[in-house]
Amino acid sequence: ESLINRIAAGEIIHRPANALKELLENALDAGATQIKITAKDGGLKLLQIVDNGSGIRRADLPLLAARFCTSKLSTFSDLSKLQTYGFRGEALASISHVAHLNVVTKTRDDSCAWRASYSDGLLAPAKAGTSADPKPCAGNDGTTITVEDLFYNTPLRLRALKSPSDEYARILDVVQRYAIHNPSVSFLCKKTGSNTADVSTPSSGTVKSAIQTIYGPSVAKELLEAQAEAGTKDEFEWQAEAWFTSANYHAKKPTFLLFINHRSVESARVKRAVEAVYSGILPKGACGFIYLSLDIDPSKVDVNVHPTKREVHFLEEEAITEKVADSMQAVLAANDQ
Ligand code: ADP
Ligand code: MG
Repeated sequence: ESLINRIAAGEIIHRPANALKELLENALDAGATQIKITAKDGGLKLLQIVDNGSGIRRADLPLLAARFCTSKLSTFSDLSKLQTYGFRGEALASISHVAHLNVVTKTRDDSCAWRASYSDGLLAPAKAGTSADPKPCAGNDGTTITVEDLFYNTPLRLRALKSPSDEYARILDVVQRYAIHNPSVSFLCKKTGSNTADVSTPSSGTVKSAIQTIYGPSVAKELLEAQAEAGTKDEFEWQAEAWFTSANYHAKKPTFLLFINHRSVESARVKRAVEAVYSGILPKGACGFIYLSLDIDPSKVDVNVHPTKREVHFLEEEAITEKVADSMQAVLAANDQ
């Protein structure tokens, strides 16, 4: 049974960067305004996320890493309105099947923090011979999640991830995306033992200033903004905000950061349609930088996407992307005059 769970978990958590994405989303869902990430060996040895969010109540700790345990659904109808799509209550459970998971957490109402360790979905003793119950400890408001020895019990998976530096680059990519999308949250990401941060953003920025901090002035000084939203005849609500480089910016590789309902997602179709705004505008071989955030009535977004399929779909995908691309094109044309 535990082997089957381990295989299922490995399908959800493929590599350190996807564990991190889940943990970052949890911290943001908990209302954190400060998030610090530390990684050792590309997150394979250690991945730690410290947030100053709501914390987890002592009473919720025993089942925290149980499968399908989530505080984010209270009624069945919430399922269709779910902002957090993909999978529900499976992230911590999955991590506990393929790594050593430790949690230290404190709510505003608690007088002390609690420490708990998990293995295979259950509370586990931190040291052999001690009890598995959560232990009181010192700690700040918020939650610290520590993931150690990821894939220690799935050697094939571990062997497939050969390069810690490649895994770290993927971690940085996830942090950068979320830092840009959440400019009022401060992010700090570094390697264990290092004094220099690889990502560091303040808690009082804008999307534009976060892009400047992360991608530098060459991108920031060429940024244009476009917005689009549902028309009166559209069947459901949606809104789009794009920040993208002008015709003066020429990169060798495209950057496309897509958020749907505040989750970083992939969509080859949206990417293709939106990047097409540069055809005929940029010289051949040159690429732009595009950040696009779409807010769509959650009942119109496919929430049943399997975690291994990172592609997201939504209703009226073509019509919506066309409107977004049109508004970007209009801004590009006006900028050219
Ligand atoms: P989901 O996010 O889909 O609910 P997870 O396995 O990611 O499932 O998390 C399980 C539950 O643990 C969440 O619903 C939430 O109540 C709690 N939780 C996890 N991480 C945090 C955090 N950083 N701060 C507060 N609560 C958290
Ligand atoms: Mg989650």
